[in-house]
Amino acid sequence: MQMIKPKIKLNEWTVLKNNEDSLLYLGEPRGEKETYITYGRVPLIRHRIYAPYEGEVKAAFTTRMGGVSREHLASLNLSSSRGDDIENVRENYRRFAEALDTSPENMVSSDQVHETTIRRVYGEDKGKGIVRESDITQTDGLTTNERGVCLLTFYADCVPVFFYDPVNRAIGLAHSGWRGTVADIAGKMVRRMEDEYGSNAYDLVCAIGPSICRACYEIGEDVAVQIKERYGEDTEHLRDKLDGKYMLDLHGAVRENLLNAGVSPDKIGMPDLCTCCNPALLFSHRASKGQRGNLAGAMELI
Ligand SMILES: [Zn+2]
Repeated sequence: MQMIKPKIKLNEWTVLKNNEDSLLYLGEPRGEKETYITYGRVPLIRHRIYAPYEGEVKAAFTTRMGGVSREHLASLNLSSSRGDDIENVRENYRRFAEALDTSPENMVSSDQVHETTIRRVYGEDKGKGIVRESDITQTDGLTTNERGVCLLTFYADCVPVFFYDPVNRAIGLAHSGWRGTVADIAGKMVRRMEDEYGSNAYDLVCAIGPSICRACYEIGEDVAVQIKERYGEDTEHLRDKLDGKYMLDLHGAVRENLLNAGVSPDKIGMPDLCTCCNPALLFSHRASKGQRGNLAGAMELI
C-alpha cells in the first residue's frame, strides 16, 4: 500500500472552525486538547493527544470528504446498509484505508446496537464486516493488542471513544450514544482492558471524537430521566429548557464515565468539532433528519 504523504506536516496544526461552512483553515492550536486534520486523498481528523504516539498507534476519524458516493451520502459514506451502491462503498473503503496506511483486509467492524457488548479481536478477525462475513454481532466496543488489526466503529452524531494503553500496547474503540453513555460503555471498556491486557486506568490515553454538541442535542423528558438517574438530579450535563426539553452534553457525560473509571483528566482528549454543527463536513443524523451516510472512527496498533 502506497503511503500518502500529507500535504502538511503533523506539527503544522490545522484546526477546524466550529459552525463554519468554509470548512478548513490553518491556525494555531487552541488549548491542549484539539483535533486537527491530516491531508491525503482522504482527509482524516486526528486527536492531538495521540500525536506523541504517532509511531505506535493510528487513531483517526473520517469526514464526508474524499469519497465517491453521491447526494446525501456524498462522498465518503462507509455504510453498506444506507442505500449506497456497494461499489461506491468499496471504493470509499479503499481510499480511507490508503489514507490510514492500512488496507480494508486489516479492518474489523463493530455491529452497533446501542448496548455495551465489547469484543476482544485478534489477527484472525481481520476483514470481518468489511471484506468478508462477520460473526461479530451486536457489539459496540472492540479491543485488541495485536498490531495491524484496524478497529472500526461508525457514527453520525453519537460519540466515539478511543483508548490507548502505551504501557501494555493495547487499544480500544467504543460507540457511546446516550444509551451507551447511560449504560457506561466507556467505563466498561476501561475495566475490560484492565482484565484483558493488565492495563491501568491511569495509563490510558483516551479521546472523545467528533459528535453532537450540547447546543445541538435536544432531548425529551424520557431521556433526561435516565441521565438524571445516572448522573444526579443537578447534573451539569443537562440544561433545562423549561419546556419539557433539555440540552444534553454527551461529551461531558462520557468524560465523567472515563474519570469515574480511573482515567486521568489530563489524558482525555475532548472533541472540538460537532457533527451537527458541521453537516457539510460530517454526517449528522440530526442535521440531515436521517438522510445521511456513516463516518468511521479507526484505531490500529503499528
Ligand atoms: Zn453542534
